[in-house]
Amino acid sequence: MTGSAIELKCECKNDPWGKKGSDSFAGRLWSQNSGNSESLKDSETYSEMWMGTYPSLESRLASDDTLLSDHLKSHPELLGKAFCRKYSTDIPFLPKILSFAKALPLQLHPDKKLAEKLHAENPDKFADANHKPEIAVALTKFELFVGFKSFEDLEEVFALKALEDILPKREKLNDEVLRETCHTLLKLSPEKVSDIVSKLKQISPSELRRNHQVPELLERLSQQYSEFDNGNLVAALLMNYMVLKPGEAVCVPADSIHAWLSGDILECMARSDNVLNTGFCPRADRDNIDLFTRALTFNPQSRVSALLPAQSSPVGWNQRTCEFAPPFNEFNVLGLSLAAGEVETHVALEGPSLLVVTQGAGEMKIQGEDKSLRLHEGSVYFVATKVQLQFSTQKELKLYRAYAVV
Ligand SMILES: [Zn+2]
Repeated sequence: MTGSAIELKCECKNDPWGKKGSDSFAGRLWSQNSGNSESLKDSETYSEMWMGTYPSLESRLASDDTLLSDHLKSHPELLGKAFCRKYSTDIPFLPKILSFAKALPLQLHPDKKLAEKLHAENPDKFADANHKPEIAVALTKFELFVGFKSFEDLEEVFALKALEDILPKREKLNDEVLRETCHTLLKLSPEKVSDIVSKLKQISPSELRRNHQVPELLERLSQQYSEFDNGNLVAALLMNYMVLKPGEAVCVPADSIHAWLSGDILECMARSDNVLNTGFCPRADRDNIDLFTRALTFNPQSRVSALLPAQSSPVGWNQRTCEFAPPFNEFNVLGLSLAAGEVETHVALEGPSLLVVTQGAGEMKIQGEDKSLRLHEGSVYFVATKVQLQFSTQKELKLYRAYAVV
């Protein structure tokens, strides 16, 4: 019998954009994760540690290596009847720890309708028929591009001489002009991209009052992916650039363009692995640009509207827990932060949850069960539905807990 809180063993991916060795938050947590004694290699990149039941990188029970999905199939009582009616025995969300030293591919995740179509047409590439809205919580300083700039900011970009001969003719900016512009920038030849990038890098920041970071961002991006990458222009010219402090979060609805630039984050998304990539990746890996720009949502999004504020959460009794509640149904994420000697109780939740310790150590007690579980950096637990938990620490403890909203 494994009880209602089950320690998990998780896997980590090694994408080339990941941070190396012990610089990688994802790598460090993975190497400390239970059942995983592998030490980090300085020369290896560690990009994403996944938690949950998504088939391509599934978590296992630390006790005996059983797949979590198999265990839940034979113990649906851990999930609860209401949950199983809605989701069967699959956990409907997928938390990950990501660490990246350079930009991830410029991407969007298709909405449900498009995901169904792509999955039917090409199941090898689009492994599921689900949408993938996601949230990202900064664990360290987090730089990112998300959504399109406001039309006020874009007007200044559209007035740039270097872009004069390529931008669509227009009366004023609207969603369609933006779609066409994005399409045009993505279709430019490598030589043309490089030519524009070098012109734009020379512009003095004072000429770009609202977009003063453009030259500096182009410099950095072209060092990472060469000056020939169309993603340089789309990201630096059209998208919101943001810098988040640890604990701050953004929300990315399905269909919304984004690219993470640097940092370590906790990501949580609906259970899907569908992605359309277009920049900051080899040309061969780019998904059809027509499909990409058709699927994109072109509502410009202000930086402020991308932010997902941490709310105080009714789940924690002692106000040591905040909550990220995105405007979609699959999950919410709790953030618990305790100093030495503090305790917090989480009320019993109606759905199952996955928690990961990102800093410090402590103990977790389950109401009604005798034993106390030891938590340390990299601990990952599945917690069954309707279980009340008490957390305590002698030094400090930070953890995130994603739960299904049933
Ligand atoms: Zn994404």
